[in-house]
Amino acid sequence: MADDPTRWRIAVTAVEVDLRAWRRAHPAAALTEIEQALDARLDAARAGLLAEVAADVPAAEERCPACGGRLVRRGERTRTLRTRGDAPLELTRAYLSCPACGAGLSPPR
Ligand SMILES: [Zn+2]
Repeated sequence: MADDPTRWRIAVTAVEVDLRAWRRAHPAAALTEIEQALDARLDAARAGLLAEVAADVPAAEERCPACGGRLVRRGERTRTLRTRGDAPLELTRAYLSCPACGAGLSPPR
């Protein structure tokens, strides 16, 4: 599940395991090369967490900014952005609309 609190720990552990495997395959790597290998892996994990948290919009806050009416979900939209380290960020957000005034929002904020 996206809100499983162990997911981030698992992702960080995977970064460590992968980095240590990379280090064994690159025994002559300089410190800066090891640092770059670490940052690339952390950036990818960071992008995953960022995408999940950005998509996590509490239902109680889904109110129309124009009239305060309760917004309803009308599907989702996914965009691919770039974040730190040029890591791809798949951002999925709900498209919301207001039945009271007809306003549409995506992303909601
Ligand atoms: Zn409205």
